[in-house]
Amino acid sequence: MENKHETKLSYSFVGEPATDTVRWFVEGIHNQMQNRGHEFHESPKDDTGLIFNLVDSDNARPYRRKSQSVFIVSILEGKEPNGHILETTYPHLLKNISNLLIYHIKNQQGLCSYFVTPEQGYPHVILRDGEVEEYFKNAYDRIAPLACSRFVINNEFIPDLPDELAAGTEKTRQLYYAGRKLDEMDLLPTVIKIEQFLSEDALRQLWRLYRVGGLSYGNLSVRNDEKTFWMSASGVDKSNLQTVGEHIHLVKGYDRDKNAILVSIPKHIEQPVRVSVDAIEHWMVYTENPGVGAIIHAHCWVDDSTTKMNGHTVAFTKTSYPCGTVELGEDTASVIRNAPDPARVVVCQKNHGIVVTGRDLKDIFDRIDSGAIRIVKQIEMT
Ligand SMILES: [Zn+2]
Repeated sequence: MENKHETKLSYSFVGEPATDTVRWFVEGIHNQMQNRGHEFHESPKDDTGLIFNLVDSDNARPYRRKSQSVFIVSILEGKEPNGHILETTYPHLLKNISNLLIYHIKNQQGLCSYFVTPEQGYPHVILRDGEVEEYFKNAYDRIAPLACSRFVINNEFIPDLPDELAAGTEKTRQLYYAGRKLDEMDLLPTVIKIEQFLSEDALRQLWRLYRVGGLSYGNLSVRNDEKTFWMSASGVDKSNLQTVGEHIHLVKGYDRDKNAILVSIPKHIEQPVRVSVDAIEHWMVYTENPGVGAIIHAHCWVDDSTTKMNGHTVAFTKTSYPCGTVELGEDTASVIRNAPDPARVVVCQKNHGIVVTGRDLKDIFDRIDSGAIRIVKQIEMT
């Protein structure tokens, strides 16, 4: 499955293992990394791409990145959670400002390791009957696609949005109503309120790193014309998408050389917020499929057998890539491209959420409202 992740990484470990399990894990994963030909750095250098940060459950110990492109995996052993797994684990992911948290739990059944992502994915790997090799292969497969994927972080803002568009259009009003509708349907949930346990400083860091604003997950967009589309901005409240250049952006392209999304903004906006991280994915889908007029993304799932029975295409991505990466975009775009009708697909993004395409926004909500696409809250973790 991982053939396409042949990118060679350089990696390093920081911190001390707080428990024997963590020490054992470090050795095992180090072996896997060596076997796959990745380059080990005794201590982190400026160009080390992957840092395994050994933390403990009592005190956060975020590793200070030298560059935004460093991928940080925090590792700890903790107690068995009482409530939802994310309530216990997600705070550790955030407090240690990591891209991935590996949370080990030891109980009577043995060892269970959760792989918690900013997208609130939490698949797990279990150590079965001493099958150590199998366990570490699985663990490696959870880490490598994430660590090798490429974020499209940059936005290039071009102050050339014509006044008649800057004032908002029928399409931007549709986006406003669609955002409200997603909110009413409770499809923009956060499992936990991250503001409760993070300082202002930590929130700002998170914001810079993976644009998690704590307001809502998910995003939505609508085609403007052949080449451009309107999309929700990053981290804004999707139930109140009112102002162009602030809550809603016009995306007009992607610059491969600069690895930047091109955003057309009104002249008067001085410090625009970025467009949603998934703009790269939406850009690919609109560019390839002229029939697609709108896209929504929410952190929920569908009852795929009912939805398929109702004659709707449900397709699945096979790898869990982070939001806002070229790889997630390509994976999703290829699933849509290969569907019988690319303008009417429900894509279940592995361990993450759904992407629904439509001829327009109404077309998407008609299918959801009629129950043809049956939404379920609980995302499958595999
Ligand atoms: Zn998402």
